[in-house]
Amino acid sequence: MTDKLKKTEAQWRAELTPTEFHIMREKGTEPAFTGQYWNDHSPGVFVCAGCGAPLFDSDTKFDSGTGWPSFFKPIDDKSVATQDDHSHFMVRTEALCAKCDAHLGHVFDDGPEPTGLRYCMNSASLKLMPKK
Ligand code: FE
Repeated sequence: MTDKLKKTEAQWRAELTPTEFHIMREKGTEPAFTGQYWNDHSPGVFVCAGCGAPLFDSDTKFDSGTGWPSFFKPIDDKSVATQDDHSHFMVRTEALCAKCDAHLGHVFDDGPEPTGLRYCMNSASLKLMPKK
């Protein structure tokens, strides 16, 4: 199992930018087409902006047209956790960093092959580590 990283709200607030804190710890959503990565197609590994855990490979990133960075699968099965989200009068699947429980975004079933999934992420939850 993944070792959990636990920090207090005060610790997260001190370490993260206000935008990162709002999205990752308060389950916020950045406005479409405003984040750093929706239109960035450079190669690398997207890690959690909170704890640095590897989450997505750029090889699985696709242009969803939504204005959020979108992937058809996580870098491995255990890196991204999911849970039901009934907020905002919708039933959605929330995606979280399995290590630090940061809110990442949501998963939808209208993605491309081979998985048919669309991991719709917030740029502010991710950090791109370029491939060398
Ligand atoms: Fe994390």
